[in-house]
Amino acid sequence: MKPLDYPSAVLELIAALKRMPGVGSRGAERLALWFLQHGRSDADRLASALTAATGGVGICPECGFFSESGQSCAACADMTRQRGVFCVVEQPTDVLPIERCGTYRGLYHCLGGKISPLDGIVPEDLAVESLLARVRRQPGCEVILAVGSDVEGEVTALYLAEHLASLDCTVTRLAQGMPAGAGLGHADRITLTRALEGRRSL
Ligand SMILES: [Zn+2]
Repeated sequence: MKPLDYPSAVLELIAALKRMPGVGSRGAERLALWFLQHGRSDADRLASALTAATGGVGICPECGFFSESGQSCAACADMTRQRGVFCVVEQPTDVLPIERCGTYRGLYHCLGGKISPLDGIVPEDLAVESLLARVRRQPGCEVILAVGSDVEGEVTALYLAEHLASLDCTVTRLAQGMPAGAGLGHADRITLTRALEGRRSL
């Protein structure tokens, strides 16, 4: 006798949910049952939100943050922001922790990673040329290097500072006090605000 289990469609749903970060076997099962018990409206809402987010969201051609497909992101399109301040981060996910501090009014530039020879990531893999091009179009601008404070972050900051030195811009680095070796997402709001306000020239 074959032991009884959920119908295959439910097992498939559980398997799909389990693939998501932070969702274990029990959590996936609980979520799947929640959808089954709540009828179609919640499931339909999630399905259409997933389709819209994964199909309609792209990367801003200017700064690399998330945007509607093919369009500038909300920051680049916001003409009330300071056009002559660029906050350089590793990943698009590093933008929101800074934004949520509520004090930064400039633009962003997402590198897409950090220099890491051990992982085979060289400067050419990162959005460095597009950063230099933006700086050239904005003489007298400030470039805030908000990359991580781990070894790769420091190497990346040094590389960028060297390449920005010949351009008409001020280069600053987030103040110390950021958690060593951790990304911006791990910094609390007060620490991040202080690091931004206390940034130093390179
Ligand atoms: Zn943008």
